[in-house]
Amino acid sequence: MRVEETDVVVVGGRLAGSATAITLARGGHRVVMLERRRLPSDVLSSHALVPSAVAETARLGALERLLALDPPKSPWVHVGAGDVQVHEHWSAVDGIGYGLCIPRVDQDVELARTAEAAGADVRMQTDVRDVVWRAGRAAGVRCVHDGEEVEIRARLVVGADGRRSTVAARCGAWTPYRASRNGRGAAYRYMTDPHVGTRWHATMSQWRWGTTVGYTFPTPGGRMICMLMPPAERISEVRRDPEGAWRALVGEDSDGIGARLRGATDHTRIRSTSETISYFRASSGPGWALAGDAGHFKDPVIGSGQRDALRFGRRLGEIVGPVLDAGGEDAELDAALQEWERERDRTCMASYHWGSRESRPNAPATPLLREVIRTFDGHRGQLADNFGRVRDPERIVSPRVVALGLLNALHRHPGRRREIVREALGELPIEAGIRLDRWLGRHLFRASTTRPSERGDVDFPPVPRAASAAVAVPDEGTAGLATNGGPSAAGASEGPTAVSTAR
Ligand SMILES: Cc1cc2nc3c(=O)[nH]c(=O)nc-3n(C[C@H](O)[C@H](O)[C@H](O)COP(=O)(O)OP(=O)(O)OC[C@H]3O[C@@H](n4cnc5c(N)ncnc54)[C@H](O)[C@@H]3O)c2cc1C
Repeated sequence: MRVEETDVVVVGGRLAGSATAITLARGGHRVVMLERRRLPSDVLSSHALVPSAVAETARLGALERLLALDPPKSPWVHVGAGDVQVHEHWSAVDGIGYGLCIPRVDQDVELARTAEAAGADVRMQTDVRDVVWRAGRAAGVRCVHDGEEVEIRARLVVGADGRRSTVAARCGAWTPYRASRNGRGAAYRYMTDPHVGTRWHATMSQWRWGTTVGYTFPTPGGRMICMLMPPAERISEVRRDPEGAWRALVGEDSDGIGARLRGATDHTRIRSTSETISYFRASSGPGWALAGDAGHFKDPVIGSGQRDALRFGRRLGEIVGPVLDAGGEDAELDAALQEWERERDRTCMASYHWGSRESRPNAPATPLLREVIRTFDGHRGQLADNFGRVRDPERIVSPRVVALGLLNALHRHPGRRREIVREALGELPIEAGIRLDRWLGRHLFRASTTRPSERGDVDFPPVPRAASAAVAVPDEGTAGLATNGGPSAAGASEGPTAVSTAR
């Protein structure tokens, strides 16, 4: 087997992988980034970049490349829930006051190209099969490219290889210490946007009706993506009869999302998933880290995964770079990795809760929720800050906002007062749990306590079985974690010990 040496090996070459590779390569480190697929290639995602995510691409030096794809800029954000229609401007982040939505098939390759331009050695169609261990530390990977097996030794192994992470599996971190079952599934497709030239083609919209949440995001070439998120059980209807189920879901909100889509043509096929478990995995250990979805995933109902993959991919490089520069001891490197994981978890906990809460398959436009949303009408930027991750959701939907919404709901719907009060009371433990996590903050490292916003009865798929190096590269199809074949791996000679779930 050929053996190579480098400083850092990054497994996975999309968002988190490119962000880490760019940052470390710019810092003068030797980085090899390995991607199983040949980019450009697609991945399951509705890929909205909120302004704070666009700002991340700017920090990484990739924004110009993305803008060269001529995506429509969306300075507007809109929430539609029956008679409540809130239109706001995004708050600017680093001077960027617009969102972008570029199909992953185009977006990801530009990030990988930026990594290459920064000096990373980017290798496509290279499947990582195993992590190499020396004296209890991750010390590299074994991979296969073009039938040839190669061992790449490195001081740091970064798994940026998505939800079915080989690195997580080989580092004993596959099973999350904290997870929440998704209540919603997702079905999406592209189509022409009948409103090109109007403000709608510069607006990212969320629609709420029945038991479904939907999104419309403008994409390049006068097109748009529409994602519907009904209760997860309804995805089986989508699989049985895609067009019929799509029409039925959209038809349930004919004056809302139905009107937005009317006149759209040239629809692509519908992609769907019913498996989007949110989780935190132990994401650092001796000589290894898990960036992006490999380490943490939250429900796509909040559209935040790309932003965090980019941000904490970058932050990983920024935090460990100086330790690698100074030739720090292994213990210093591991402490830096853990510091990074703590920062990620502190920052992401609020949106994890928000995603779990929004993923409940109950009605997303009850009288109470509609009135809470209506409270933001005319208050420029506040609700958008929630989607934009400018402030934490519980600070935006504050007790004052909830109280106002409740009073208005009781006033406007005198016949439904009992139901409204019951719903408000039901939200109290959820609010309390979220605020408790915020209050306990940094003391909660890898804590597995389940709060009322989470559905902890998760049936997480087992650690993928090892397979021989000759196994064909599995396709990242449309199915979720539970149904796809897992990544392959040869048996490690000196494997890791299981990662502790609470420290
Ligand atoms: C239905 C859905 C809709 C979503 N919508 C949005 C949205 O609108 N906005 C948003 O911000 N986020 C959204 N997300 C989340 C977002 O897609 C992810 O958070 C994001 O893709 C994470 O990027 P990543 O780089 O960590 O992982 P990935 O994008 O999963 O990339 C991992 C890469 O690793 C490679 N890989 C895997 N194993 C190996 C191996 N053994 N060797 C080499 N390479 C390997 C894979 O081929 C893949 O290219 C959505 C997710 C879903 C499921």
